[in-house]
Amino acid sequence: MREPRAAYLSLGANLGNREETLREAVRRIGAAESVELTAVSSVYETEPWGKLDQPRFLNLAVAVETTLSPEALLALAQKIEKELGRVRHERWGARTIDIDILCFEGVERNTPDLTLPHPYMTERAFVLVPLAEIAPALTVKGKTVEAWRQATEDQGIVLYKKEEAE
Ligand code: AMP
Repeated sequence: MREPRAAYLSLGANLGNREETLREAVRRIGAAESVELTAVSSVYETEPWGKLDQPRFLNLAVAVETTLSPEALLALAQKIEKELGRVRHERWGARTIDIDILCFEGVERNTPDLTLPHPYMTERAFVLVPLAEIAPALTVKGKTVEAWRQATEDQGIVLYKKEEAE
């Protein structure tokens, strides 16, 4: 059996009951075989930018320890996206949840299906703000997550709901 490794995921939802969808996705990640949830950030709301008539997003980040391969973790994320997206699809006619793998301990990938670390993770506040809350000292592409967060110019993100201690 492989040693567990740390991985970090970013979750976003902008249709339907966004918070409920995020919570359910986090629950399903934590309930999956060979995956242990080690941290969940607060929920943040992202101002729409670019296309302004879009609903706002809610975003959060999670940390896991897993013996799954990066590809198997991606398959799990896509399965959960599909399960939760399908439920809402009939009602809202759009996809309601996006789950990205931000980085996976000791892994670099550049295949058509999987790029690790995630190519936009060092630029986007909606990724970096929640991630910096749970893993400020994590080093990605030569800098800590906290340093990347401070460098981001994208300020359109606000705290929506603080994570409650369990
Ligand atoms: P999107 O739903 O727009 O985020 O894009 C999903 C696509 O991105 C899928 O086809 C994945 O195979 C691909 N992809 C590449 N790298 C990653 C990653 N690190 N995490 C999640 N999806 C990824």
